[in-house]
Amino acid sequence: MSYLPIQQVLKQAPVGTDVTIKGWVRTKRESKNAVFVAINDGSTIHNIQAVAETGQLAEDTLKLITTGACVAITGQLVESQGAGQAVEVKIANVQIYGSADPEKYPLQPKRHSLEFLREIAHLRPRTNTFSAILRVRHALAFAVHQYFNDNGFYYLNTPIITASDAEGAGEMFRVTTLDAIKPPLTEEGKVDYSQDFFGRETNLTVSGQLEGELGAMALGKIYTFGPTFRAENSNTTRHLAEFWMIEPEMAFHELEDNMNLAEDFVKTVIRYAVQHCADDLAFLDNRLKEEEKTRKKEEQSEMGLLEKLQFVISNEFVRLTYTEAIDILVNSKPAKKGQFQYEVKWGVDLQSEHERYLVEKHFKKPVILTNYPREIKAFYMKQDADGKTVRAMDVLFPGIGEIIGGSQREDDLDKLVARMQEVGIEPEALWWYLDTRRFGSAPHAGFGLGFERLVLFVTGMGNIRDVIPFPRAPKSAEF
Ligand code: ATP
Ligand code: MN
Repeated sequence: MSYLPIQQVLKQAPVGTDVTIKGWVRTKRESKNAVFVAINDGSTIHNIQAVAETGQLAEDTLKLITTGACVAITGQLVESQGAGQAVEVKIANVQIYGSADPEKYPLQPKRHSLEFLREIAHLRPRTNTFSAILRVRHALAFAVHQYFNDNGFYYLNTPIITASDAEGAGEMFRVTTLDAIKPPLTEEGKVDYSQDFFGRETNLTVSGQLEGELGAMALGKIYTFGPTFRAENSNTTRHLAEFWMIEPEMAFHELEDNMNLAEDFVKTVIRYAVQHCADDLAFLDNRLKEEEKTRKKEEQSEMGLLEKLQFVISNEFVRLTYTEAIDILVNSKPAKKGQFQYEVKWGVDLQSEHERYLVEKHFKKPVILTNYPREIKAFYMKQDADGKTVRAMDVLFPGIGEIIGGSQREDDLDKLVARMQEVGIEPEALWWYLDTRRFGSAPHAGFGLGFERLVLFVTGMGNIRDVIPFPRAPKSAEF
């Protein structure tokens, strides 16, 4: 049986034609003369209403049309008598694909908490909220590829299993085929990874950047967009153990070019979502407004979701150095009143409370911070002439904090090696990375955008676990 996605039926099927739709029952309502069934197939936030006259459907069939059941319905598309929809399907035939025992089906047509829905992540895509999020997520992913393709970047697939720790933070998941109970040991009693699958210790990647740089030194402009893993036991609303990262890397780009690209890139993909996900974003905007009503007045945000997206697209990001930001923070009200949880002074890594103060209270705009102290940034960042700072840039967003982290890279071999030795990374272990500085080195820059943080911002959700289909976090890998 050929059928049309509900999205197409609602948008373009002519009234009077016969259509077949297939989807999951959201609600069934019976009145004196008719039975109304609302069906959704995931192609749009909107349900389609199908109507049968009372007594028209066999009792057995009617009983199986319950919330969650999957059905195929054929009938004429007619103008709707009721309010709320322009058209509806006059049921001629119903086929039940799969019933859903109403006693057991966990998704009832009422508001469920996000916490509860996380426990049924296998079913939550069938809710309005999660189907909207997943469609927006798809649109953003598409826009990412489109942006880079339009701007002359090549999509480079960097390895997921690696033997290097790009961030030097050591929060990695080990990949091994060794016996977990009795691994082979060396003479010193340590695990003998030379007997492991790859003949060495390997992990899931925390970033594709190092290999991305190799690509940029050959193809000019590349980007990666792939799964990334961090075993950080942080349990925050902004961290996942498995997330998707977008990492462009460009030859002949310096810090300023890097900032320009980052700003243009995020604005362009957000604009794409605003233009192509109008219905879903309107729904999420509304959802957020309802949620805000339950909050205290002072915790409510001044802008709605759509306003906030428009605001980011149409305003220039504020750019300032880390040193200037520290000045602002040290002299801020919360610092003077001791309201920051973490101390703020030159040299410390900014905490999310500091980032959010700058963005939400002080500038009320997205902010790009540059030239951080070298001690708190990765070894590969280009050192400034003052010997104190590096050409780093972090993009900070309202409600999120850091959404992008990037830098111009150190292209001078001697400086890079010296820095590695200072922080205790053996240059020999990264001989292949250093070869790009030995042979045809060039100024280059890049950044990493956590895809879920972008989806979080665009959907207005509050927890990163709600913007990826099956979240991976400490003690959570069920689905
Ligand atoms: P944070 O300080 O927020 O932990 P980070 O400094 O560790 O971020 P980077 O190493 O610069 O982040 O990674 C680049 C980007 O990847 C970040 O700007 C963020 O968008 C994203 N990101 C980092 N860690 C996570 C995570 N655990 N889950 C989801 N996204 C992440
Ligand atoms: Mn981190």
